[in-house]
This record gives sequence, structure tokens and C-alpha cells, in this order.
Amino acid sequence: MSGGDGLRAPTTADGHELEGRVAIVTGGASGMGLATVHALARRGATVAVFDLAAPGRAELASTLGVPADRIRSVAVDVTHGEQVDQAFAALLEERSRLDILVNAAGIAPSTTFEDITENEWNRVLAVNVHGTFLCCRRALPAMRNGGWGRIVNFSSTAGKTISTAGGAHYTTAKHGVLGLTRHLAKSSGPDGVTVNAVCPGLIDTPMARGLLPEGSLDRVTRSFPVPRVGQPWEVAELVAFLASDRAAYITGAAVDINGGDLIV
Ligand code: NAD
Repeated sequence: MSGGDGLRAPTTADGHELEGRVAIVTGGASGMGLATVHALARRGATVAVFDLAAPGRAELASTLGVPADRIRSVAVDVTHGEQVDQAFAALLEERSRLDILVNAAGIAPSTTFEDITENEWNRVLAVNVHGTFLCCRRALPAMRNGGWGRIVNFSSTAGKTISTAGGAHYTTAKHGVLGLTRHLAKSSGPDGVTVNAVCPGLIDTPMARGLLPEGSLDRVTRSFPVPRVGQPWEVAELVAFLASDRAAYITGAAVDINGGDLIV
């Protein structure tokens, strides 16, 4: 809460603003998810990485330069309801609370529409949308219990227009993430839980490098108003802000972070 005069922010980014908070970051082993783990742990949160291949906790902590006791690492396929349920249950049993959920797990094949098989279509929707649904479904009751919560879902510029390099399934999925985000924001606000999405443009991660031919990430982004590729930490800083007390009045938003590639 503010100082009462409406002028002073409740906390500042002084390195402790998420002290005592417990967070889950899906897709936290790579790219923007990994940068988000760093941003949250650096502010004092205990952060559980839920990813397909769980990186070692000590190794992760040393890579990120944060204390190992702030990191958990669990192998979870977010499309798998039972695995998601078990991972949430184990964390809740250990910590008895959950404050922050960041759904960053995603895949983005670039297959042209005519060549997308039903299996591939289903998998892209499963990871990006169904996985987000499964995790939100588990997180919300715990957040409501605590009277405070922050959910940040990874959509994309593809969720507002069409994907630069991903296929029609990816564009469809990222639009779906925005629909889910908006719906949950409406129903969760009275419980102290905000639900927002971030919509990154082209960000320098293994996903983006894998989607575009060598060298083209830098070439394409040179024509953007901010003429360069975005960095994972820049998105992570936005996520950390949305996950803080300072963002209590932001919910249902789909925040662009794209160097001006899409101005709407
Ligand atoms: P990344 O490939 O570096 O990381 C994605 C992570 O998700 C990986 O660690 C991967 O193992 C994990 N993952 C994939 N399927 C999973 C599953 N079934 N269960 C659990 N984990 C799974 O990608 P990134 O670029 O950091 O992307 C993060 C998010 O941002 C994604 O949702 C992506 O769609 C979105 N996004 C990326 C860009 C970009 O330019 N890189 C732009 C807009 C949006």
C-alpha cells in the first residue's frame, strides 16, 4: 500500500521488493524465462523453474549469480496435467504459498500453413495455451488464499497481429493467451490477483535464433524504431515490474515490448 497520500510508491526496486515471495517460471531454463528467474530471484523471491529438462539447482544459481536457496528446478511438461499438478503440489507443500506465476514456456515452429499437421497444430496450442491454462488453474486458488498474486503470461507481437517467423498455429496460440489473460484478470482482481500478458517482439533467445536464418535477426531488427534486437533481460525487467506491488493497478493488460516494431 502507498504512504496514504497517493504520491509515494509502496516499494522500490532496491533488491528486496520480492523478499518472501514464491514464484514459478515455466520455460525458465532458457531465454526470457531464464532471464525472468534471474530478475525475480535478484529481488529476493524464491523461484521454481518448471521446464522440460530441469537444470541443476546449484548450476542454475551459479550461472545467474543468485543464492542457491532461492532456486528450485523441476522437470515438468506443462502440457501434462498430472505433472503440472504434482509439481505445484510439491512446491505448495514445501512453501505453503504461491505469489507469482510466469508462463514463459513456448514453442514456435515456422511451418507454412499448408504443411502443418494436426499433431503439430495440437502441440503448439498445447504448450502455449493449454499449458498456460493448466498452470493458471493450479496457481489461482493458492494466490486467492494468500490474498495476493501476480500472473504474467507470455504472449507475443504475434498475439496482436501475426507472427514474424512462427506459423499460423503460433499466431493462433498467442491470441489465445491474450484471451485467457483478459478473462482471468476480470475474475481475479477482487482477490488481489492481477493477470497480465507481455507481448515481446523479436528478442535474442535460442527460439528466435532458431527461427530465423543466421544473421537475419540483426538485419531485420535494424529497421525498427529502436534499431536492434531486444535482450531477454529487458523483457524480464518488465515481467518483474508486473510481478511487484508497484504494478497493483495493472491487470488485463497486454504490454508491448518490441523496439517499436508494432506501434498500436
Ligand atoms: P526459448 O526457446 O529460449 O525458451 C522456451 C523454454 O520453454 C525452453 O526452456 C523450453 O524447454 C521450454 N518449454 C518448451 N516446451 C515446454 C513444455 N511443454 N513444458 C515445459 N517447458 C517447455 O524461448 P524464448 O524466446 O525465451 O520464449 C519465451 C516465451 O516468449 C515463449 O512463450 C515464446 O513463445 C515467447 N516469445 C518469444 C519471442 C522471441 O523473439 N524470442 C517473441 C515473442 C514471444
